[in-house]
Amino acid sequence: MTAITLVQGDITEQTVDAIVNAANSSLLGGGGVDGAIHRRGGPAILEECRKLRASVYGGGLPTGRAAATTAGQLHAAHVIHTVGPVWSHGEDRSALLASCYRQSLRIAAELGARTVAFPAISTGRYGWPLDDGARIAIRTVREAAAPPVEEVRFVLFDKEAYEAFEAALAEPAKS
Ligand code: ADP
Repeated sequence: MTAITLVQGDITEQTVDAIVNAANSSLLGGGGVDGAIHRRGGPAILEECRKLRASVYGGGLPTGRAAATTAGQLHAAHVIHTVGPVWSHGEDRSALLASCYRQSLRIAAELGARTVAFPAISTGRYGWPLDDGARIAIRTVREAAAPPVEEVRFVLFDKEAYEAFEAALAEPAKS
């Protein structure tokens, strides 16, 4: 069974096999965790993102999908970029948010990653309420994590996010 762990901190400081990036569909970098990953990882990541755009994702990486690049100078082998949905009052986009976690885990497994670090996707500029975002994250990882992934580490930037994930993890898994 895959262990789910929580830490409060900066995802760019983690030593893991794969770091997941809450990217935007352009794959050309942005603010928040995306900006931090490109800053700390260096230009090799952006270079591979540009190649992905040129070859497969000319129209951008669709919401809910994920794609991997090198991790540059980060203490990881891979960065898995995934595009979270923007929160909407009028439309239930939870399936897209769950898809980000599921697809990232699938790619991590294909890459042979044993340890994977996730940020709280969509809960920053994309406006997803933390409690709900945390519940979807934990539920989906419980359902989808499989060997060779041994540890899924959620790296939460602030105390509020950490506590939301702690609460979601304390809820019993539904069968
Ligand atoms: P999105 O556009 O998917 O909402 P953001 O990067 O704006 O992405 O925010 C996603 C989450 O990542 C937020 O909870 C934000 O506080 C957090 N975050 C921002 N920088 C970092 C970082 N360096 N490490 C971990 N989490 C971060």
